[in-house]
Amino acid sequence: MVAISPVYETEPVGGPAGQGRYLNMVAELMTRRSPSELLAAAQRAEAAALRQRGERWGPRTLDVDILLYGEEKIATPDLLVPHPRMWERGFVLAPLADLAPELVAGKLGAELLEGVRMAGTLSRAVAAPVPTGAGEAAAT
Ligand code: AMP
Repeated sequence: MVAISPVYETEPVGGPAGQGRYLNMVAELMTRRSPSELLAAAQRAEAAALRQRGERWGPRTLDVDILLYGEEKIATPDLLVPHPRMWERGFVLAPLADLAPELVAGKLGAELLEGVRMAGTLSRAVAAPVPTGAGEAAAT
């Protein structure tokens, strides 16, 4: 874990009417995992959080997406990176801007920030030693 953003409380985007607000954050990782291994790890984390696959964009305990993987472009049946909808989502861009403002510069208009409110911070995890030659990835 290289860095974690603050936590944002956000109004739901899409999905069923009447659902509650979400908590969103972005983490920056250094990893030796390939993109597909990272996706598998993300899905194990969702399963560990007892994620149920119900209605698309409906309430869920945990949703982990890979936003970026260094500068790689990935288009496989299971994985699209950069995440195709990240640039439309204030709840992604606001925490991403906290970690990597240069990536978001000029892309985060006021309209995207409607319904997005910084809620607080998690205590920072103790960083593990960073192995040399590791790739970078960002996930939310
Ligand atoms: P969801 O958990 O509803 O966000 O969707 C997960 C599905 O999206 C999985 O089947 C993944 O294979 C697929 N997917 C495609 N691109 C990504 C990405 N960048 N990050 C996470 N899941 C992705």
